Amino acid sequence: MTLDPLPDTDLTRHRRLRAQGSLDRADLNAILDAGFVCHLGVLVEGRPLVVPTVYGRDERYLYLHGSVASRSLGGGTPVCVTVTHVDGLVLARSVFEHGVNYRSAMIHGEARKVTDPEEKLEGLRRLTEHATPGQWSYARRPNRKELAATTLLALSLEEASVKIRTGPPEDGDGPDAELGRWAGVLPLTSVWGAPVADPALAAETPVPEHIARREGTRYA
Ligand SMILES: Cc1cc2nc3c(=O)[nH]c(=O)nc-3n(C[C@H](O)[C@H](O)[C@H](O)COP(=O)(O)OP(=O)(O)OC[C@H]3O[C@@H](n4cnc5c(N)ncnc54)[C@H](O)[C@@H]3O)c2cc1C
Repeated sequence: MTLDPLPDTDLTRHRRLRAQGSLDRADLNAILDAGFVCHLGVLVEGRPLVVPTVYGRDERYLYLHGSVASRSLGGGTPVCVTVTHVDGLVLARSVFEHGVNYRSAMIHGEARKVTDPEEKLEGLRRLTEHATPGQWSYARRPNRKELAATTLLALSLEEASVKIRTGPPEDGDGPDAELGRWAGVLPLTSVWGAPVADPALAAETPVPEHIARREGTRYA
């Protein structure tokens, strides 16, 4: 399936290191699918709050959720959400050329509070499944009281940007190459560990397959 490219707007246009930008929506989707924690930047009572929070998505929206008491989830105001994956440290000959190999996405827009009960449940399903595929059918689903205590925001994925850096330091062909110091990339990888059972569990309770199978697999 061919996806529409990411838009080139006043908000999304890269001004610095433009070569690291990508307008490929598949890159955006891959970055979103590789993680489940984002940072929600929003003005609350005139002050910026940048809140780490989990997310899910469908083709059109990013879903964020939290307590109805959460001030950052008011909706209806401009927000900026970022998702960042660090792939390594770029250690150059000079401190100036040090950097990070990464994949990152920024989404700009006005988040909408989801009030339709069906859409809310579907958004929460997406969010749950995004972090732990298989968990929506395994865990007890939210009841009416829990749903009433939960805010779900939907943020359009239309106005988004992507930036990706890969590769070695950039001073390999400059004068600092003469220094003879080591330079290169120190990769960073996160891996899921072995599930740790709740001590309150009955000893014979098996680890469900959809959780057990993630042990040793890569995150992001
Ligand atoms: C882990 C990590 C560490 C970084 N460390 C540094 C650092 O120490 N110093 C530094 O200068 N930069 C760093 N960057 C790059 C930084 O995120 C910005 O891209 C860069 O600083 C340019 O910022 P700007 O305000 O000039 O952006 P502009 O180019 O003016 O931003 C314009 C638009 O481009 C898009 N955009 C900008 N940056 C990103 C991004 N990273 N991902 C997706 N879309 C983006 C947004 O839509 C934004 O509104 C780092 C990035 C990551 C992921």
